[in-house]
Amino acid sequence: MIMLKAVKVRLYPNQQQRIHLAKSFGCARWYWNYSLALTQKTYQDTGKGLSRGAIQGLLPQLKKEFEWLKEPYSQCLQVVALNLSNAFINFFEGRAKFPRFKSKHHKQSISYPQNVKILDGFIKFPKIKLVAAKISKLIEGTVKIVTISQAPSGKYYASILVDDGKDKPEVSSDGKCIGLDVGISDICVTSDGSKYNNPRWFKKHQKNLKRKQQKLARKEKGSNNRKKARFLAAKVYEKVSNCRLDFLHKLSRRIVNENQVIAVENLNVKGMVHNRSLALAISNVGWGMLNTMLKYKAEWSGKTYIEVDRFFPSSKTCNNCLYQIDKLSLDERVWDCPSCNTKHIDRDINAAQNIRDEALRLLALGRRATACGGTVSRGSGREKSTTELVPLNQESPRERVSNVGSVKRTNRMSEVLYPKD
Ligand SMILES: [Zn+2]
Repeated sequence: MIMLKAVKVRLYPNQQQRIHLAKSFGCARWYWNYSLALTQKTYQDTGKGLSRGAIQGLLPQLKKEFEWLKEPYSQCLQVVALNLSNAFINFFEGRAKFPRFKSKHHKQSISYPQNVKILDGFIKFPKIKLVAAKISKLIEGTVKIVTISQAPSGKYYASILVDDGKDKPEVSSDGKCIGLDVGISDICVTSDGSKYNNPRWFKKHQKNLKRKQQKLARKEKGSNNRKKARFLAAKVYEKVSNCRLDFLHKLSRRIVNENQVIAVENLNVKGMVHNRSLALAISNVGWGMLNTMLKYKAEWSGKTYIEVDRFFPSSKTCNNCLYQIDKLSLDERVWDCPSCNTKHIDRDINAAQNIRDEALRLLALGRRATACGGTVSRGSGREKSTTELVPLNQESPRERVSNVGSVKRTNRMSEVLYPKD
């Protein structure tokens, strides 16, 4: 398995290059929308999409009809066909929504699949040649594909996908395991009892963004003032999202560096965003983003990333005795376990500990060879659990708790694992 890494750098194209890029963005967008419309029609008529070959096959004729399609580097349009057919495959296989038309008001992008060279302070692209770039660290490896994008704030970026030639390290789960619970008041709470949240100045930018968006809403549609207000809002929006990305990168790096097994809840973020009261908070903290970063960073460093099913009642289960309470509303921060009298002074830490333990159980079932080494530890040191103790056909202690029905009491962990009857 090869490992691809993406590096994003800022680009500073000159006036001429900006014009070329604007035209290329336009062509790529037009070709995407044209092919999407055609594919949509074909799909309605026949129940099938158009293949990548069929979409690419449209190009020669289109170029004859529309001279301006010859202006961008031709490979960039081939990538559009590839991306569109992939979008359809993802749709048919249930991984994504139906592909959407691209608007000139959103982020613009174009991809170069070859012939891009990274130089000192510059990137050399076909047709537009040398573009000034801010490259802060050495980029090692073979450049696979480079995407130039322009944010609504007007800034240009290049996202460089590099194959560093190294194999993915062997994944191991021997070592400390940490469970993470994501929330609204704190972005992330760990089973070790640490809490992480956005830096204080993040709120300041966010307030500013809200002000700018309100201003924008008051401007007359189509007016020049509205254009200006939209640009200002886009600039602050970019600041807010860069700030959040930076925070999530540092947080995920730290968690991956300090632990061997990282257990998170598998969040159906899309499903949760339907709940409007939670929606804003969720999109703000970027939970899905954190999971994605943890996952690839763990893969790069040979660590285990494991998702626990989101229907698993991590908040409502007592980590001490596994008793599951019926209800725990979002504003109840502290609760007492009616079974073992443990005072859960922090519901999120309790949840994170349950996520960690559930992950250890799953690891013991699925990865016996590693888990049987007995070196997987719970991390907190409170109660070392050598996972080899869990019989392979053992159902979840938590499932047991919920399956008992009206009699919800269960005894201590050891008795759950080794029932007396
Ligand atoms: Zn309890």
